[in-house]
Amino acid sequence: MAIDSRQLVIGNWKMNGIAADLAEIEKIARNVGELRADIVICPPATLLHAAANITVGTRLSLGAQDCSSEQSGAYTGDISARMIVDCGARFVILGHSERRQYRGESDLIVKRKAEIALSVGLTPVICVGETEAERIGNETIAVLEKQLRDGLPSKSEHDHLVIAYEPLWAIGTGRIPDGNEILSAHRAIRGSLTDAYGSGGTEVSIVYGGSVKPENSAEILGLENVDGALVGGASLRAETFLKICAASRT
Ligand code: PEP
Repeated sequence: MAIDSRQLVIGNWKMNGIAADLAEIEKIARNVGELRADIVICPPATLLHAAANITVGTRLSLGAQDCSSEQSGAYTGDISARMIVDCGARFVILGHSERRQYRGESDLIVKRKAEIALSVGLTPVICVGETEAERIGNETIAVLEKQLRDGLPSKSEHDHLVIAYEPLWAIGTGRIPDGNEILSAHRAIRGSLTDAYGSGGTEVSIVYGGSVKPENSAEILGLENVDGALVGGASLRAETFLKICAASRT
């Protein structure tokens, strides 16, 4: 568990959600006040501004799902880190496996995006994780170490950085690693963080993502070195997401 931190539960809506779905964000915002964890919702960028009007003054924070690796300029269609801050968001998911897989994002791009995000005050949530084949080949730890060696921002305010361990084979499949696998992956991630940042590496939150549901959230969030969860499909409905959030332990 990261030193001095509350658990963090982050919902990733991916490419889902139109204005009518802001009602779900409103319900979440109304109910997070009593929760022990810090809660973040990452809707599509098109909803961020409207969502910020709903969540202002509540304990629900907002995040984006990606940002440009450039500060500004002639990059048609891209959204800069500064624009995300301007919309009222505080977090940005970077290096999600879907972006690595479908958009060819490398660790170096992730690093560049994370540095730009930090420079404007956003907290990057950097996703790392192994494929099914890598897991079977006992390469999980080596894969995580490489992704972090190449993808971590070179300088970091450690309490403004989150790492999400997301095994690719667990995303959207209903399958999850057993507790020992999560513990050993998170231990390896912590090792990479302290290699990169010294004692500051103990302050970075490490969350687990991949098929987190109300039925397994207490078990996952109860694990000793799990600082929270990144939730995809189960974050789309307030009722389901709030059940997961309620399972947090600090
Ligand atoms: C994700 O894509 O980040 C994720 C965790 O998805 P799901 O919870 O749907 O497996």
